[in-house]
Amino acid sequence: MIYLDNAATTPLSADVLQAMEPWFHERAANPSSVHGAGVRAAEAVDRARRRVGRLAAATTWDVIFTSGGTESNALAILGTPGRGGSRRMITTTLEHPSVLQNAMRLEQAGVEVITVAPGPHGVVDPERIIDAVDARTAMVSIMHANNEIGTMQPVADVAVGVKSRNPDTIVHVDAVQTAGKDDLDRALALVDLVSISGHKMHAPMGVGALLVRRGCCRPTALFGGGGQQWGVRPGTENLPGIVGLGQAARRAADERKTEPARLRELVDHFTGAFEPRGWSEMGFTEASRLPGHAVVLLHGHRAEPVVHAMHERGFVISAGSACHSRQRRRSHVLEATGLPPEVDAIRIVASRQNTADQMRQAGEALTEVLTGQRNSH
Ligand code: PLP
Repeated sequence: MIYLDNAATTPLSADVLQAMEPWFHERAANPSSVHGAGVRAAEAVDRARRRVGRLAAATTWDVIFTSGGTESNALAILGTPGRGGSRRMITTTLEHPSVLQNAMRLEQAGVEVITVAPGPHGVVDPERIIDAVDARTAMVSIMHANNEIGTMQPVADVAVGVKSRNPDTIVHVDAVQTAGKDDLDRALALVDLVSISGHKMHAPMGVGALLVRRGCCRPTALFGGGGQQWGVRPGTENLPGIVGLGQAARRAADERKTEPARLRELVDHFTGAFEPRGWSEMGFTEASRLPGHAVVLLHGHRAEPVVHAMHERGFVISAGSACHSRQRRRSHVLEATGLPPEVDAIRIVASRQNTADQMRQAGEALTEVLTGQRNSH
């Protein structure tokens, strides 16, 4: 199987597995224990913390380990109430449900939530966010890249504009899709909170982090417990997972000047081999795109049979997002971009484990599948 569904999850990489392994058995210990083994475990957590912090090295971060992107987003949104009675939050209609659902909770608690829609190219106009910031605005939450359509959002411009209107407004960026795939430095330099997730960057599922700009704020814990991680995220740390995330972050930081360009080239190999017919086209190409991410729009044709036909040919790709595809309802992201209901989307997403040859093969296979399915109609 050629795995090209790397926005849904990425396979664990061998170096990450190797780094994690000893912490399951011969080095197993609770990082809170006072004995030597516990101290070594705590040092491993700290090492991972420093490595994760270097993912976006233009800023110094405090790193809080969580169970993944969903929890990091929840901690950012529910755990960071505004200063001085601030009562407004601004986000976008493109966000992951872990942002939108928690924004809804704030709304139920009386916070005014403004959700800005993107333009037809799948990118939010920064001015629309900045214009909505007032003295009462506690937080702006915007994703760095969209998981379904791969469009990069102007997070650096948003951060500059928001801070100039209200320096107290906290800017949170969901960088779950970009961490490990793009260079985060410039984009996140002025941002306060950043969510990342291990399983999107070849570390395991069930571990992630919230990066908090040093000096910004201390999120309030979502639940009580034993006081680990300064009480902000209590619970015994997921030691092997955290070590794995640290290793993935180290590699991503090392490769950040080379890997984004290589991933973009991989998409070129796919598009070079794929021949869109009149009823299919590459989607959202006018926007700046997440490296490695390609979308094919299907006019008047459902994506799901295409995903199955590609699977039969040995390619794992997906329709829209993994969170939605089982629910058989149209994705809120496609809706947000204003595409008519008869247009469906499939995504082909490469990672550092894919090759140019695989991408060419995927492009050829997709051309054949789409031609075959059209003819059988
Ligand atoms: N944010 C984005 C943009 C995502 O794509 C995802 C996962 O699909 C998440 C958050 C949630 O991350 P996790 O699966 O680690 O909870």
